[in-house]
Amino acid sequence: MASTTAGSVMIVYHPQYLTGYSSVECESPARVASIMKGLGDDMIVVMPGPCEERDLLRCHSEGLLAAERMDPLRYRTALLAAGGAIRAAELALEGHVAFGVVRPPGHHANPGHNWGFCIFNNIAVAVSRLLADGRIRNAVILDIDLHFGDGTEEIFRYCDAVTVINVQAPTPGEYLEATRAALEDSPGADILGISAGFDQYEKDWGKNLRTADFREIGRIAGSFAVKRCGGAVFGVLEGGYYVPDLGLNCIALLEGLRESAGRPKISID
Ligand SMILES: [Zn+2]
Repeated sequence: MASTTAGSVMIVYHPQYLTGYSSVECESPARVASIMKGLGDDMIVVMPGPCEERDLLRCHSEGLLAAERMDPLRYRTALLAAGGAIRAAELALEGHVAFGVVRPPGHHANPGHNWGFCIFNNIAVAVSRLLADGRIRNAVILDIDLHFGDGTEEIFRYCDAVTVINVQAPTPGEYLEATRAALEDSPGADILGISAGFDQYEKDWGKNLRTADFREIGRIAGSFAVKRCGGAVFGVLEGGYYVPDLGLNCIALLEGLRESAGRPKISID
């Protein structure tokens, strides 16, 4: 066995994601519990810290932060979710397939307002942090949630460094093909981030994709990352409300990613 953990799947998770902060019933703590229960023995859990407010302010207004501070528990949990996304993105740059099993989700958080169970835009905060730190020059964000990631789109609308892809297609075959084509058409980048919603699942609201399709999305995204993003790929949990199979679908995505992108890197250091 290699002494390094490069090539392992790193799961970024904090127990506070299980908190019953004010939200709607379907966006329940059972969602992250379902994923954590299904982790493989070879998946390594890492606990993140909260992001800093200046990380949020790259994507959001002071006004939104002020409004969210009114509910301290909800605010603290949201800081940890964005901090989890940052940690996952950093781990990706270190050669791991990394995934943030975070709550609350983020892709409906716009610069000045939020909706759809989201508070701050976790994936946008993470990518903006890496850009600000000079660790990446550009990024591709692939949003596979059932719902259009309006917040991410809005945050990066005038940012040439970030390409945001939202895939919508009515059947599994067309969905996989559209995902492949959209990635192929993108410019490539220093990192690929996946806004990983699972509500397109056949038993969830979208009534479309099967578990095997999430695995295939992982393979498609992973091989794109290897070919066009230097192998750097991370994901962050967005939607997905059919709790009994949410863990199954998330693990399938991770296994697909690992098959194509998670090979240990040979170091000459
Ligand atoms: Zn959704």
